[in-house]
This record gives sequence, structure tokens and C-alpha cells, in this order.
Amino acid sequence: MSEVNPDNITNVIVSGKSGAGKQPRIDVLVEEFGLEHLSTGDIFRGYLGKFNEYGYDGDLEIFWNDDGQRFIPDDKIAHGLGTDSEDVTLGMKAKYFVDKGLFVPDYITNALFESYFAKKNHRNQVLDGYPRTPEQSKFLLELLEKHDSKIDFIVLVDNSDERIIKRTIKRRICPECGKVYHLEYKPPKDGRCECGAKVIQRSDDTEEKIRSRLNEFKEKALPAINYLKDNGIPIVTVPGHLEKFTPENIRNSIMNEVKTLY
Ligand code: AMP
Repeated sequence: MSEVNPDNITNVIVSGKSGAGKQPRIDVLVEEFGLEHLSTGDIFRGYLGKFNEYGYDGDLEIFWNDDGQRFIPDDKIAHGLGTDSEDVTLGMKAKYFVDKGLFVPDYITNALFESYFAKKNHRNQVLDGYPRTPEQSKFLLELLEKHDSKIDFIVLVDNSDERIIKRTIKRRICPECGKVYHLEYKPPKDGRCECGAKVIQRSDDTEEKIRSRLNEFKEKALPAINYLKDNGIPIVTVPGHLEKFTPENIRNSIMNEVKTLY
């Protein structure tokens, strides 16, 4: 087993069921390899927040075309919402799916991911929550080829459904900086984040929506990872649950696996 030279790492993917315990592993990769965290979930929540701030409380179903499996054109959405803010429109689209525990359609997710990945020059990223469908995997591989970039490896964080449900219901997040807390394992002091904002429960952290996300993972996200594996990207599996959840154990549980690839 040899040390991994951070200069050789371009991008890494961290995948796993929502609530499996990806965040502590992402923190290790960010620190070890000097990477930045790019989370499509955080991006969608950012737009969703803008939509909530805007304060529209009508029915969102009127914006969705079930036959075409697409939203109605943006100018019609703008008219219905009473604003031509693109952020609010995107926030509405995110909310429509995120709040149901369903994946946002590929045509929206891929476009959004492409623009955020490009901001960082398609390099030095830990991709979190993307790709999550085989179609997204295909899109990502094309994007990497076009920009002469690569994914070095995938870290799959493994955890059982029942443990995830138990953990996730007690998860709290900071709406300002995105930091993640847990009422038992990592309680926020006086209900506040280190940055001072009051922590909240994610709107999709209810049992019903968690089960829906777990189903989406099996149906779509696992095949997405298998697609990348079939295209030659190495994968290591690390346990999301550790008997002793110390910083050292977390670090070793991932780094020992990563080192086996080099
Ligand atoms: P996460 O924070 O990664 O659990 O993502 C929260 C929610 O954002 C998911 O349940 C989806 O509704 C949406 N989302 C995030 N990433 C993706 C993606 N790659 N494809 C589709 N939907 C996504």
C-alpha cells in the first residue's frame, strides 16, 4: 500500500444512499487531496430557498406537463409565478421533485451540473450526489472527455436502509452554510450552527420521503455508478457505520481503501 500523491488526483465521486454518511468522508477527501465539494443537492436546496423566500403558495402541479414529462415552457411558468426571475423558476422546479423525495429530471440536473462544474474548470472537485442516473453518467463522461479531465475513483459509502432512516430523521442542516448536524451524534449548540444561523430539518427528511429516496437510489443511482465502473473507473466501498465514530477511524476507513488503488 503506498501513499497517494494529491497532485495525481483530478476529481473524485462520493456516492451512497442519501443519509448513508457521505459528508464525513467528503471532508476527509477535501482535506487529504485539496479538493472542493460540489453537491447537486446543495445547489438545488439553494434555489429551493430562493423560491421559498419568494413566497408563492399556489399549486405547483399546474407547471408540470405529465404527458411530456417536462415542465411547461419557462415564459409560462414566469407568468404563473408572477416573476421572471430565473432563480425562482429553477427553485420551483427543484422543489417540485426534492419535496417528493424524487430525483430532478436529467435535462435540468445535467445543465445545472455542467455550469457549476465549468466554474471550477472541471477539476479538483469531490462530486457529491452526481451522477445519479445512467444518463447523467454518460453526460459526465462526455463532459470529462471534452475538457480533457477525469474521475480518478468512486467512493461508495454503504449503509443499511433501517439505520439510515433512524439517522436521517434526526438530521439538521444549516440553511446558511449547509453544515450538517445530528441531534444525537453532533448536536447544534442551542439549536444554532457554528456560523450563527438557526439549524433546520430538511423538508425531505421525513420517513416517507427518505424511503422514496432510498428507492430512487436502488433504481437509478446504483446503475449510474455501475455505468462508470463498466467504463473503467475504479470503485472502493467504505462502511457508513463505524462502531467508534472518531475522526481517526473515519479517516482510516476511507484512506486505507483508497490506497489499495495505488
Ligand atoms: P441530496 O442532498 O444529495 O440528498 O439531494 C437532495 C435532493 O436533490 C434529491 O433527493 C433530489 O431530489 C435532488 N438531487 C440532488 N442531486 C441530484 C441528481 N444528481 N439528480 C437528480 N436529482 C438530484
